[in-house]
Amino acid sequence: MISTPLIVLGTTNCKKGAELAALLAPAGIALRTLADFPDAASVVEDGDSFAANAALKALGQARRLGQWVLGEDSGLMVDDLDGAPGVVSARYAGENATDAANNRRLLDELGDTPPEKRTARFVCHMTLCDPSGEIRAESEESCRGRIALEPRGTHGFGYDPLFEIVEYHRTLAELGPRAKAAISHRARAARRLIPRLLKLPQDCRKKGDEQRPSPFGLQQT
Ligand code: IMP
Repeated sequence: MISTPLIVLGTTNCKKGAELAALLAPAGIALRTLADFPDAASVVEDGDSFAANAALKALGQARRLGQWVLGEDSGLMVDDLDGAPGVVSARYAGENATDAANNRRLLDELGDTPPEKRTARFVCHMTLCDPSGEIRAESEESCRGRIALEPRGTHGFGYDPLFEIVEYHRTLAELGPRAKAAISHRARAARRLIPRLLKLPQDCRKKGDEQRPSPFGLQQT
């Protein structure tokens, strides 16, 4: 019988969830999504940093569901726009904005800013909470690039068609999932988090909290 790690992901963004699941799978860490939990609460992401929002997502769901929850908050920071869209990346063009509308607003805001001044970074913060709502692991990483003059490529989601990796002269949407899994903010944050996740059963034993649901709770035969 193989024990498979169980960590519930505190997001409803399926594309982001799929990327994260693929990044954690090689370490034997399986994610379940909130779609499996009808009792999941909807969390208001009103923090003023990626760290604050990741904690809000993880904490709110962990306590409500009595599960280990990984909260992830990410977004784009453009240097020439003083870090905008930042924590409002998902709704830059308004509540429930589409990716295309957000990309359009970003291009409008940058106008004819020359390529060398269109530098930007994606940031990803991950926070793992135990079922009592205590933060047990965190990581934050970024990926630098620059905003293209027009969208290019069909892979990924969000601002990927506009986010150009300067060394490759390609946007993340042109580079595709394999390259993104190697260099993205999310990939880097996951790589930093994995060793801590793998130490969790040991930490739990030391802390004497075996009575709580284990992060390694799913059993596979
Ligand atoms: P969140 O669900 O509040 O974390 O929103 C993240 C938003 O940031 C997404 O809706 C995208 O607009 C943007 N974003 C975050 N990560 C990525 C990425 O990997 N590629 C493209 N856009 C991203």
